[in-house]
Amino acid sequence: CKMKVPRQADLACGNWGVIGPRAGKATFVEVCSEKGAHLLDSAVKKGILATEAANPKGLEIRGKVEGAMLKLGEKWRKKDFEGLGDGKDRLKKIMAETSRCIKCYSCISACPICYCVDCTTKNPTYVKPGEVPPNFMFHLIRFAHIADSCVNCGQCQELCPAEIPNALFMHAQQVELEKMFGHVPGVNMELPLMAFVEEREERARLGNTGSDMIYENVFSPVPKK
Ligand code: SF4
Ligand code: SF4
Ligand code: SF4
Repeated sequence: CKMKVPRQADLACGNWGVIGPRAGKATFVEVCSEKGAHLLDSAVKKGILATEAANPKGLEIRGKVEGAMLKLGEKWRKKDFEGLGDGKDRLKKIMAETSRCIKCYSCISACPICYCVDCTTKNPTYVKPGEVPPNFMFHLIRFAHIADSCVNCGQCQELCPAEIPNALFMHAQQVELEKMFGHVPGVNMELPLMAFVEEREERARLGNTGSDMIYENVFSPVPKK
């Protein structure tokens, strides 16, 4: 992970830089937008919290910790990505690891990007019901749908009972797509390429029909006359 302080958010909170008697008792808050400033001011006015200026020494320490953690993130990224190999080797590794999948759906339920009403992984046309481990298509669907938007939150890996490094696989693909299209998920507020093409249409379909499944009419049996 190379996102240590999320300054694209309205407020970035954490404990780096909280020193002296405040250590462990206060939160360091970076105010990153007008909206964040308004929220904080309102909370102070209502007596919900109290603020004070950051300790200059604490600020310096915070910067140093952030720098050290970024270097550590870089080091781990190199190690983890190199371990994945390239091209066909990477694909083979992903296929071998995902063959432990028990299709519990935790990765989908936990993913902030997976919010579809009709999840394609539950469409019997693509993934045979009751088959464990599922066909690789189960994972390919998620890679195809999520890789451009993955924010590397790690939840799909953290919660996987089969200990499959799902976040690593997805993030490695996201980094490649970012190189190609320049979209940084969670930072750039415009839609990524795929969502830009289809998301509005899907939302309209959901509003009109209660389903966001694009292909249901294509694969449904032809109605008998
Ligand atoms: S790491 Fe990416 S794919 Fe996994 S849950 Fe988070 S956003 Fe979703
Ligand atoms: S993005 Fe794909 S995998 Fe995720 S919930 Fe939607 S259809 Fe399912
Ligand atoms: S969390 Fe792991 S075991 Fe469960 S469906 Fe996802 S990859 Fe498979």
